[in-house]
Amino acid sequence: MCVPGCQEAVRHALSRRGFFKGALAASFGATAVAPEIARAAPARSFTSVVDLTHTMSPDFPTFFGVPGIEMDKKFDLKKDGFNLYWWRIVEHAGTHLDAPIHFSEAGATAEKISADTLVVPLAVVDVAAKAAHNPDYLLTAEDLADWETKHHRLPDNCCVAMQSGWAQHVGNPVKFTGKDGSGVFHFPGVSPQAAEWLMNERNVVGLAVDTLSLDHGPSKDFKVHYAWLPSGRWGLENVANLDKVPPSGAMLVVGLAKVKDATGGPARLIALV
Ligand SMILES: [Zn+2]
Repeated sequence: MCVPGCQEAVRHALSRRGFFKGALAASFGATAVAPEIARAAPARSFTSVVDLTHTMSPDFPTFFGVPGIEMDKKFDLKKDGFNLYWWRIVEHAGTHLDAPIHFSEAGATAEKISADTLVVPLAVVDVAAKAAHNPDYLLTAEDLADWETKHHRLPDNCCVAMQSGWAQHVGNPVKFTGKDGSGVFHFPGVSPQAAEWLMNERNVVGLAVDTLSLDHGPSKDFKVHYAWLPSGRWGLENVANLDKVPPSGAMLVVGLAKVKDATGGPARLIALV
């Protein structure tokens, strides 16, 4: 499913063979490695690694208002010789992926999402200034057009991420969820028009937000979820540190838990810059 351009970009960003050769040389020391191998090892072509994942805990704000994870310590080092917890988790809590099946009858489940669609160019659209004045802000097709004017056409098979500044509020559930007296959430999301534009006019595989949902807080019809996910594309929610990566040029690695029949699940998101 990854087109030739995507493969090329991935190869460029990761330079895997060179990276692993370099790691091998470092681990064995210069004297243990043949000189020609050491000479052949190029430096990796990304210069930094940014963790786009929030730390998960029972305190992390969730859509359902219940702990997204419960951890029961079943074994203890002093008593049993090792430490081990049993977890009970909500699939869609913390930094996580929405699989197509989440909002469709027959969409792909988590384990069926092809690995080559989980390593993709990342385009970050910054709407933080607008969201600061409007917690219900909806990322528009115009925001996407502005991004393209400043940078370039969205790369094929990329993930488009909304950076609304909301990740900084994660320690404050009242602000992060924006829940009002009537139980309505207030946080930014993607407008249905912007999602449709990405689906019809560009070749995008993933949509990411730094809030609880692709659809903004007050949404009752979840139009973006119902359009985006049944099309076979995936979503990411509660993404962290989008303000620490460039708007263009990073490669996103989605380390999704591979669970049979899952509608999504916790993901370690890593940006290679
Ligand atoms: Zn979700």
